[in-house]
Amino acid sequence: MRRPELVLLAPLMALGAWIVVQARDVRAGAATRQSAASLAEALPSRLAPAPSRPTEPAAGGGAGAVSTVRGGGAPTPAVTSSHPPAPNRDLGEIRRRLLENQAGTYIGDILSERDSNIARWPDRTSSPLRVWIQSPAALPDWNPEDIAQVRDAFTTWVSAGAPVPFTFVMDSSGADVHVTWVDHFDEQISGKTMWARDDNWWIVDANIAIALHHNHGEPLDASAVRAIALHEVGHLLGLDHCADTTNIMTPRVRIRDLSPADKATMRLVYALPPGSVREAMR
Ligand SMILES: [Zn+2]
Repeated sequence: MRRPELVLLAPLMALGAWIVVQARDVRAGAATRQSAASLAEALPSRLAPAPSRPTEPAAGGGAGAVSTVRGGGAPTPAVTSSHPPAPNRDLGEIRRRLLENQAGTYIGDILSERDSNIARWPDRTSSPLRVWIQSPAALPDWNPEDIAQVRDAFTTWVSAGAPVPFTFVMDSSGADVHVTWVDHFDEQISGKTMWARDDNWWIVDANIAIALHHNHGEPLDASAVRAIALHEVGHLLGLDHCADTTNIMTPRVRIRDLSPADKATMRLVYALPPGSVREAMR
């Protein structure tokens, strides 16, 4: 009943001890396809002239979005020096935290989309995630300010309480998170996030791609790039889509900043251990 176009099958690929989660990518692709349409609707007309069709078609599992994932496109396996710790799964404590903190969040949307599983990064209080952002001088309309917008998206989530500090690095080889640019996607999306998790549902690796143009050619301005980045970093942190369109994590992004529910949901996700909370909800 929930947005069937978003509930695409989740091809999981076992890769050593890691599980590469491609469902996120497919769903993110589908979602951002819709997001792109909504951005076009919301942007000033000078930036988003009316499309030839009055409304963009709903996402339909376009081959392009998936092909980048399918086409030998498993993200680089996580390279970490040690496995994250086994999560502490105290069902009583999980239940208490859910009951006390779920008001004002869309945690229910996330759990229903993900078969009651929480996915998140381990707390990294002493070891920031290393984020590398591509400098694509060769791409038309790329603006150095776009990098600042993406950095701001990361720091905005941290300011909202994400216990996952980031540091921006110049060398991609040692980065935990890679942000790359594309001129445009071949389908109606503006961004795509891929992440991998281990058996405990700790996220261990992530990549984000952000477009500089709508797929029909118009450039995305700095405000739109920041909104897309906020949405994609939300995915990177482990959030899924929500039905309420007043949040950044709605499939059709209509706002330009984090909502109170975005922040509260992220904080609740990071107050819970990764993995299934189904038992705690009974
Ligand atoms: Zn999305």
